Amino acid sequence: MLLLILTLGGYALGHYIGKACVNNNIGINSNLNKVLSTNATLNDGKDNNKSNSNKDTVTRVTKVKGKKEDSDSKKSIDYSKEINGLVVVSNYDNSFVIDLRYATENNFTGKPVYKTNVCALQKNTLSKLIAANDEFKALGYKIKIWDGYRPADVQKYFWSIVKDRRYIASPYVNGSRHNRGTAVDITLVDSKGNELEMPTGFDQFNTSAHRDNANISEAAKNNLILLTEVMKKHGFTTIETEWWHYDDEDSNKYPILNIPLEAFLKEEN
Ligand SMILES: [Zn+2]
Repeated sequence: MLLLILTLGGYALGHYIGKACVNNNIGINSNLNKVLSTNATLNDGKDNNKSNSNKDTVTRVTKVKGKKEDSDSKKSIDYSKEINGLVVVSNYDNSFVIDLRYATENNFTGKPVYKTNVCALQKNTLSKLIAANDEFKALGYKIKIWDGYRPADVQKYFWSIVKDRRYIASPYVNGSRHNRGTAVDITLVDSKGNELEMPTGFDQFNTSAHRDNANISEAAKNNLILLTEVMKKHGFTTIETEWWHYDDEDSNKYPILNIPLEAFLKEEN
């Protein structure tokens, strides 16, 4: 309860008190390919044979001017900071909707876990995500980010609560791609900021969040196909147990990090 003093406001409490997205096991979804083969192409017809187009986008990440982070914390975020390759997402693209659930009470632990709501990613992962977001924006949607870089100590905390490797990557084996700053938990929102219908809300620790859950609406199925197809096109892979989780296909190039999110706050004299 002491963490409540962090006043990490600005986020409407949602309606899901679910479970952690902490799985790290990469498992490309074979079922999705089956689904895709039976559905019309949902993107704009660009070449999507393979997710290598991102390689050309890495260097085009440019900083946003005059952006504002979604922070009500007492200390402001130092957008210019780059720590071990980690950068602040909204410094480069302020069109993402950022709802960092572990910085709020609205997560499976029921309390804020992050001490500030800085959404950080590896720079190259971010460039891929921006490319995907650009494509969604052309369709009238945007990416909402529920989680990005997650310090290794937080992974240990989650593992202490839920020791189920279907949903929690053990910090004592390989950790989570989130700990490398190369994984994101995301969904899509429309032009009014409303989340598109998906199989479940965030952090559901059960089979309803699995990619092979057939018991979902046609809208949820098609929205997830769109999300998945564009993310794969831009260099991300999926896991079977959490539809909202995407890993940078180059994740293993980056180390597990334990940089606290507060490291991105401005130093105050
Ligand atoms: Zn995740």
